[in-house]
Amino acid sequence: MESLAALFRNVGAPLSIERIVLDPPGPTEVLVRVAAVGLCRTDYHVMRGERRVAMRPMVLGHEAAGVVEATGAAVGGIERGDHVVLTFIPGCGRCRWCRQGLHHLCAEGPRITQGPQLDGTYRRRDGAGREVGAFCMIGGFAERAVVDQASVVVIDRDIPLDLASLVACGVPAGVGAARNRARVKPGESVLVVGCGGDGMNVVQGARLCGASPIIAADIVPAKLEWARGFGATHGVNAQGEALTRAVLELTEGVGVNHAFVCIDPPATLLPAFRATAKAGNVVVTALTPDSVSEIKIPPLELFVTQKAIMGAVYGFASPRLQIPELLALWRTGELKLRELITRTYRLEEINRGYADLEAGKNLRGVVVFEP
Ligand SMILES: [Zn+2]
Ligand SMILES: [Zn+2]
Repeated sequence: MESLAALFRNVGAPLSIERIVLDPPGPTEVLVRVAAVGLCRTDYHVMRGERRVAMRPMVLGHEAAGVVEATGAAVGGIERGDHVVLTFIPGCGRCRWCRQGLHHLCAEGPRITQGPQLDGTYRRRDGAGREVGAFCMIGGFAERAVVDQASVVVIDRDIPLDLASLVACGVPAGVGAARNRARVKPGESVLVVGCGGDGMNVVQGARLCGASPIIAADIVPAKLEWARGFGATHGVNAQGEALTRAVLELTEGVGVNHAFVCIDPPATLLPAFRATAKAGNVVVTALTPDSVSEIKIPPLELFVTQKAIMGAVYGFASPRLQIPELLALWRTGELKLRELITRTYRLEEINRGYADLEAGKNLRGVVVFEP
């Protein structure tokens, strides 16, 4: 079948909107009609060549929700008509990590930038008959996607699919970083550096944990204002040493229990580290461009202050556990989802969506498709 898709063809160029050919699902795969897909900064890093992928053309997009239209013969537990969220790391179910329920650490994870399906073959071709990759084994910037069942989580059918797309990436990444990685406790202080898609969800994750104060830091004033709506108690418009100073001032010179680095780690990790209290945690939730191979942290300072620096991908817990749980928190009103969506776009407008992201206008832009 044919599918309209946004293809990554050239580094630094806009995505190319084209009709591609999509093959039917293999035995362990499903065909999904994409209903909504979020414009995450990770895809933008790929478009700009800051995060290398192994092939082009490739359909980007990894924050997708939709409806199952067909299933392969060996698929279990997923049926036609099911509403699904696609996970940007597959849970193969067989590796040592998946067997422990740690799908966010799946051994297949490093392959998500390669292009082929989980089984190593391709389902997409362009007009010239050339094989087309699928970013994160999803390729969500398209009307339809064929994905392995390892990337599929079935959700309740009454959840709006635009909201469901948000729990594919940004929401679990942020909320989980606070809840599962730092394990923020009631009354502990939190700093969130970078209040975009991930950071804003760290803010609401910290609020769910009962943190106080929650200090949001960003250089876009509107994002500090939005952060208050998600639970931030303070906003700091500063970077570098000025950021460290401002946070120390707000915490009686002690620093925060937990700092979250949600944008540009090469520039923000050291200021965040120095704004963290002794024995505190520094959690990195953001990508660093491939071209940056090191970040300097004074080792004596690390030793004597007894801080921990840690990474968190996918909120440091299986998306299979987190996605239903986060949607349940949305139902009870404890988790904000609708408020995360700044604008929606048609697929043909996707490059405008990324221009808006770059301009700091969007908390989350979402491409939505007519059913
Ligand atoms: Zn993402
Ligand atoms: Zn696995």
